[in-house]
Amino acid sequence: MSDELAELLAKNEHFLTQQTLSPISHLPRKYTALLTCMDCRLVRMFEEALGLERGDVLELRTAGATISTPERASAANDLIRSLAGGIYLLGVRKVMVIGHTECGLARVNEAALVASMQALGVDPQRLIEQERLGNVQGLMNWLGAFHDVHLNVKEVVEVIRHSPYLPRIPVHGFVIDITTGKLTLVDRDPTE
Ligand SMILES: [Zn+2]
Repeated sequence: MSDELAELLAKNEHFLTQQTLSPISHLPRKYTALLTCMDCRLVRMFEEALGLERGDVLELRTAGATISTPERASAANDLIRSLAGGIYLLGVRKVMVIGHTECGLARVNEAALVASMQALGVDPQRLIEQERLGNVQGLMNWLGAFHDVHLNVKEVVEVIRHSPYLPRIPVHGFVIDITTGKLTLVDRDPTE
């Protein structure tokens, strides 16, 4: 076993000797689902900056806190599926989309992406042809790359608000500063 896996299991053993988790409901106490990015700098910081406790909300994370362009049209993607589960099965009545500054998906370099794929044995051109992505921009769109986090949050908020799979519940958009943790409201749902 790798050292990393052994360390992970050892840390878990230690956790079990230190803590006993209290049984709580799987229904989110705040009736809220949060969508944010997978950025490692958000780990723990995100919950602390928002004052969230275990059991408060559903947390959904996608690269860039986004839905990639090709998946926006029908909105039948995995994020919408998760929100539908949260809303219809777990009592969610509010959604918050929270992008962040310095997001990796806001600064994707085409050449670097292509080089990284090639270095790992994936032929970008072949993939583009096989999956009918058109060109490298199509590949970038599939990945969900964007330029402006504020604009992207607003677009994702609109996709969720208008998804035929979801009821019309309040969907708000925010951007969190990755260095300070400051949360800024960028799109307040007019229905709330
Ligand atoms: Zn990010």
